[in-house]
Amino acid sequence: MGTTTKDYYEILGVKKDASQDEIKRAYRRLARKYHPDVNPGDKVAEQKFKEINEAYEVLGDPKKRAEYDQFGKTPFGPEGFEGFRTYDFGFDFGAKGFEDIFSDFLGGFRTREAPVRGHDLRTSLDITLEEAYKGTVKSVTLTRDVSCPDCGGSGAESIEVCSHCKGSGVITQGRGFFNISQTCPSCRGRGNLAKKRCRQCNGGGVVTKTETLKVKIPPGADTGSRLKLRGKGGAGINGGPPGDLYIDINVLPHPVFRREGDDIYVEVPVRISEAVLGGRIKVPTLDGEVTMKLPPGTDSGKKFRLKGKGLPNPKTGARGDEFAVVKIVVPKNITGKIKEALKEVEKAY
Ligand SMILES: [Zn+2]
Ligand SMILES: [Zn+2]
Repeated sequence: MGTTTKDYYEILGVKKDASQDEIKRAYRRLARKYHPDVNPGDKVAEQKFKEINEAYEVLGDPKKRAEYDQFGKTPFGPEGFEGFRTYDFGFDFGAKGFEDIFSDFLGGFRTREAPVRGHDLRTSLDITLEEAYKGTVKSVTLTRDVSCPDCGGSGAESIEVCSHCKGSGVITQGRGFFNISQTCPSCRGRGNLAKKRCRQCNGGGVVTKTETLKVKIPPGADTGSRLKLRGKGGAGINGGPPGDLYIDINVLPHPVFRREGDDIYVEVPVRISEAVLGGRIKVPTLDGEVTMKLPPGTDSGKKFRLKGKGLPNPKTGARGDEFAVVKIVVPKNITGKIKEALKEVEKAY
């Protein structure tokens, strides 16, 4: 049986009727004092730190504590409690965890945490069909967090080697036959001192920056096209890389042309006489106006294909087509003479 006779209350220096809050506070105080980072190479402190954590694992959990109180031992033992240097305590401090407990110990500077990549950002950009046709360069003004240029993201105005312990984090004093090592009270064992918070970022390591980016939009971009600007997202934390910026393209509706994939459609008004007799008509394209030959006897709704007058496909580079759709326009104020003529037209059907 993995029983223990250790008095966890004694280890944490609290009374048997201490509240959970008192236990937690006592644990925090002791954990800071005996933390291996504060006492490098100190085996006694290391042992003490283990004991404190073992005690808190039981007393910090009301269920385990009740069992311990009843049986004077714990059936749980300290298993699962290994490698405390990796901060894997096997129990929960709540949402904020280790950082919360040791935040003041770490002096508020987050130098010991793992690098975290910045967030990706998303924005959208409206372009006209003409811009989509030729490709364009647009300006995007963006306000985002960037790594503070003054402190390089550390949050500290400057970091100096602790003069008290000369960077070792430990002070050794001779007392009789013994050399007593203790944590440097000046730097609290860190070996260096952050001299003031960076004024530019107030210690956060990150500043807000508004910047105007030139964004190149390739020919053929369509609504739903997405551009990626690497590294233009949010700032990374603890030296992590910044995120990326994604720009969603939105092509605005056009007053004349309707787009369908790489093809465009345009309605061309045609006079009755032109439709009947044929002629040359002007057709708008995204490249300017072109003249098209209209054969005699053209029906309304007839589609004419203008090859290659559509948009380029951004992937293949192949050009779409333009379709000119004939719409016969009927005159409103007609004289008797034209009426007579139209009666003759009747006979042609
Ligand atoms: Zn700064
Ligand atoms: Zn020091």
